[in-house]
Amino acid sequence: MKYCKTCVQPDTRPGIVIGEDGVCNACTNHKDRPNVNWGQRKLQFEEMLERFRGKGGDGFDCVIPVSGGKDSIYQVHKMKYEYGMNPLCVTYRTPLRTALGQKNLDALIAMNVMHIDISFPVSVEKKLLEKTLIEEGSAGIPTHMGMFAAALKTAMRHSIGLVIWGENSAQEYGGDMDDVLNPAMTRHWCLKYGCMREREPMSYVGGNISAEEMKPFDLPADSELEEAKVRAVFLGHYFAWDSSENLEIAKRYGFTSRTNGSVMGLYDYADLDCHLIPLHHFTKWYKFGIGRTFDNASVEIRNGRMSREEAIEKIRNHRDIAWKENVEALCDFIGWNTEKFRSCMRSFANKSLWKQSGDELVMENFITGSKVVDSNLYE
Ligand SMILES: [Zn+2]
Repeated sequence: MKYCKTCVQPDTRPGIVIGEDGVCNACTNHKDRPNVNWGQRKLQFEEMLERFRGKGGDGFDCVIPVSGGKDSIYQVHKMKYEYGMNPLCVTYRTPLRTALGQKNLDALIAMNVMHIDISFPVSVEKKLLEKTLIEEGSAGIPTHMGMFAAALKTAMRHSIGLVIWGENSAQEYGGDMDDVLNPAMTRHWCLKYGCMREREPMSYVGGNISAEEMKPFDLPADSELEEAKVRAVFLGHYFAWDSSENLEIAKRYGFTSRTNGSVMGLYDYADLDCHLIPLHHFTKWYKFGIGRTFDNASVEIRNGRMSREEAIEKIRNHRDIAWKENVEALCDFIGWNTEKFRSCMRSFANKSLWKQSGDELVMENFITGSKVVDSNLYE
């Protein structure tokens, strides 16, 4: 495992490529950012809005996929209050939404928008979550598929031509230059950067999951979106994305952070909507040898708000563990016990990072200089 010498990302993280200069592609892309002509991008955005204003079905101008997080509140603020667009807000209702997630979603609804909360059949959610844990070692695949499918299909169903996503994570966490520069959010992007591990939704059909049950989770083909004249774009392509600025705007509308520190990584205002999202980040320990703090600290370093030494210190004192509350919520939902969850996670341990030592898995040569022991990653 090689770490970027500027940030703290290792080359085991998908999308991260470390160049001969020892710097990763995400850091290099970020350095190029000041060269983006944001004024021109803003104009392009405004021209695009005029093409869609007043054209959507049922009087809507655009669809905004929202979770109730700070970024979705910012998206609604931007579209409705800065640009006077009439959005239809769509939420994929995760079966394990937290109380704080609901509270923040209520704050978004209070922004005086039309909002739909789409639930998928619970029995399918359970089967699919279990299958994706076993086959892909991921706790976040059904929620990501559900979110993409719900938003895009709602736009098609209501003939609303514009869908406004938030940031392009290929930009923040590493990706091919073509994907970083593309304003459009496509099926290709979802599969590659949307936590779907480049696996087609319908490939989960089989065993106890039928094609009919899986269909709602499938994403429209790019050709279907084109035919329906639906275009999904990243707001982050047109405006420099700044999470702390988004947070300040979201707070004005009643967004609440966690009061007892972050659940994962450095931010007490992120990853808080759903019990599954912290566990989704947790699986990175086994696969890539990193916790959420690596992602957050790398962003902080690139924005000049943290030194690499401080980041390593944060990693040393990390909170990126599997909290009992979240593991129990997942286990209660799919009928597992916590030992089964741990053994499932361990089965995805990257053998080049983790070595068996008695009953333990141990990762030596960690960025902090000390080793990581698997059992210490659980509360
Ligand atoms: Zn880097």
